[in-house]
Amino acid sequence: MRRISVLTTLWFSLCCAPAFADASGGAIAAPETGGAPAGQAKLLSARGFAVAPASIAPGKPVTFAFRTAGASGRVRARVDILAPGKAAVRAKLGLVRAGHGISVRWSTKPLAAGSYTARLVVEGGGARVYERAKLAVVAPPPPAPAVAAVIAGGVFPVQGAYSFGGPDSRFGAPRSGHVHQGQDIAAAEGTPVVSPRAGTVHWVAYQAEGAGHYVVINGDDGRDYVFMHLQDGSTLVATGQPVAAGQRIASVGNTGESEGPHLHFEIWPGGWWASKASPPIDPLPQLQAWAG
Ligand SMILES: [Zn+2]
Repeated sequence: MRRISVLTTLWFSLCCAPAFADASGGAIAAPETGGAPAGQAKLLSARGFAVAPASIAPGKPVTFAFRTAGASGRVRARVDILAPGKAAVRAKLGLVRAGHGISVRWSTKPLAAGSYTARLVVEGGGARVYERAKLAVVAPPPPAPAVAAVIAGGVFPVQGAYSFGGPDSRFGAPRSGHVHQGQDIAAAEGTPVVSPRAGTVHWVAYQAEGAGHYVVINGDDGRDYVFMHLQDGSTLVATGQPVAAGQRIASVGNTGESEGPHLHFEIWPGGWWASKASPPIDPLPQLQAWAG
């Protein structure tokens, strides 16, 4: 009586299992039910099927984990990756030991971005069982477009003989406690400094321990321009004042933390100290473009 009951249940589970289309496109026939060894008391089962991580970037590996029970020896396992409108992808896991926790890493390289059902299929002892879990392959967002370092149009900020100097004058050069955030342009004290773009004067200030006399201009191109170490008493503009491209704003000087007359020049595409996510860029390519 017990045996009949088991077989009835087994048949039910097989007849109601979803048809599976294999790689050749044909439906796999349900295995015979009469092959169950006499005395097999338990039904084959698979439990705890999980895909980790459940959401992954394309091509990265996931781990399939599960446990089988109700069979002895080895059972055959695979995972079918299914999505509507997409061809099924089969991950063959081979023969695994029944009754043990199984963990298999698998590369998602065959999968395009999308939402999938991972269907574990375990076969053994004439039975086949299924478990399902979700798997999402999510393409990372495309990198933000690089801010164009060089914008057409503009005037070189130093109107006189100048030099870009050596490596220590460059953007990114080491300084004590920080890196150099601009390009130094060496020129004689008093050489005119002009606004490279039309815009508005954002800030005029003095910082004895650093920038000396300095000016910040909001350019009409959306970028902020910073001019430091300006000559004492040379600043010709005030905060809030509009300026034209090429308009003189001050003179090259040697104020603040400066060793020799030069203009320290910065470009901030996202605004001067506007956020940590919008640092200054290397201004040299733009300066060279303006220099012609
Ligand atoms: Zn500098």
